[in-house]
Amino acid sequence: MKRRDLLRNLSLVPFVGTVAGTLLPFESTNAASKSKKRNLFKELGVRTFINAAGTYTFMTGSLMQDEVVDAIRSTSHEFCLLDELQDKVGEKIAAMTKAEAAVVTSGAFSAMTLGLAGILTGMDEKKVEALPHLEGTGMKSEVICQKAHDIGYNHALTNTGCKIVQVETAADVEKAINEKTALMHFLNIEADKGKIMHEEWIALGKKHNIPTSIDIAADVPPISNLWKFNEMGFHWVAISGGKALRGPQSAGLLMGKKDIIAAARLSMPPRGSTIGRGMKVNKEEIVGMYVALEHYLAYDHDKERKEWEARIATIENAVRSINGITTEVKVPQLGNVTPTLHVTWDPVKVKITTKQLQENLRNGDPSIEIVGNEDNHISMTAWVMKSGEEKIVARRLKEELAKVSV
Ligand SMILES: *Cc1c(COP(=O)(O)O)cnc(C)c1O
Repeated sequence: MKRRDLLRNLSLVPFVGTVAGTLLPFESTNAASKSKKRNLFKELGVRTFINAAGTYTFMTGSLMQDEVVDAIRSTSHEFCLLDELQDKVGEKIAAMTKAEAAVVTSGAFSAMTLGLAGILTGMDEKKVEALPHLEGTGMKSEVICQKAHDIGYNHALTNTGCKIVQVETAADVEKAINEKTALMHFLNIEADKGKIMHEEWIALGKKHNIPTSIDIAADVPPISNLWKFNEMGFHWVAISGGKALRGPQSAGLLMGKKDIIAAARLSMPPRGSTIGRGMKVNKEEIVGMYVALEHYLAYDHDKERKEWEARIATIENAVRSINGITTEVKVPQLGNVTPTLHVTWDPVKVKITTKQLQENLRNGDPSIEIVGNEDNHISMTAWVMKSGEEKIVARRLKEELAKVSV
C-alpha cells in the first residue's frame, strides 16, 4: 500500500491497531471484548455490594453514567494537548453553569486548593513555584471562614500555606480582615449553622474588596445549584464530579471568575513545579466530566426524584410493620438532598445492635451497605442504587429485623 493510501485508510478505521500488519504486544485488537468477560473484582477477591448508604468516598462514591463510560472509552484511543482540551471543555462547562470560566479538577477538594492558589499567585509564575511557602513572597496568607463552616475539607485551603481565621458574626469579619486576607470562604452544606448567609457573605467581601468562595461539593440536587452561586457573585465555586453528577469519582469542577481560573490553571498539570502537580486529571476524565454535566442537565430530575421516593417507599413498607420498628423519611435541606429512610428500633423489642445489623447485611448475599452511626438506628438512601436493588434491600432488611423482633 502506498503511504497516501495507508493514511486514507487509517482515517476510516476506528482502531489504528487493526490497520498495521503487525500488532505490538499491547495493541490487542480485542482488548475491549476480553475485558468485558473478566470479572476483575472477583479475580481480585474484592467484595462488591448494593450501596444503600450514599455517595461515600470510602465506598467509591457513585456509579458513572453510561454516557460517561462511553466518553472515557471513545477518547482513550487518541492523544491531545491537555491544555487545549481543558480550554475547550472549560468553555462549554462555563456556559452550562453560567460561570465566567471553569476547569475540570481532580475533585472538589483540589478545586478548593487551586481556586485559592489562583487568588494568591495571580499570573505570577514565581509565586506559583513558591507555594506553599508564602513568607517573603508578597502573597496573602489568611482565609476567613465561619466557625461552623471550618470542617476537615478546609485542609484543601491550608494546603496553599494559608491559615484559617474563624469568625462568627459580621462584626468578627470586619475585625478579622487585614492586609493578609486572601479569601472569605463559605461552606454551603453548613450554611444554616452559621450566622452569616450567602448574600451577606458576598456583600462583606465586596465592601472590603476580598474575594469570596463556596464549597458546594455535595449540593446537587437541586440542579439550579450548578449556576446559582456563580450568578450570586462568588469568585469561585467548587463541586464534586463523582457524587450526584455521576461523573468520574476523581473529578470535580472549579468554576469562577476568568482571571482566577486562568491563574489557578498555572498550578495545575501539565505544569510541574507546582502544588497542584499531583492533582492530575486525565483526558478521559476531563471529557467524562463534561459529558456527565451535559447529560445531568438534560435529564428529567422530577422523574428521578419520584423514582428515589418509590424505592425508599418499597424499603419502608417492607419493615414499618415489624413490632418495635419506627420508620421516617426525611430529605435533607442542604447537601445530599435525596429521600433518606431512618429506621429506629426499641432495643427491648428488637434485639440487635446497629453494628450487628450492619454486619449481617454486609455478610449476606448480595452484600448490602447501609449507614449505621447511632445506637438502634440505621439510615439509607436510594440514589446510587441500581433499579430493582431496592427490592433486595427491602427483603434482606425485613428478614434481618423480623428474625430478632420479639
Ligand atoms: C465530598 C466533599 C468534598 C470533597 O470533594 P471531592 O470531590 O471528593 O474532592 C469537599 N467538601 C464537602 C463538603 C464534601 O462533601
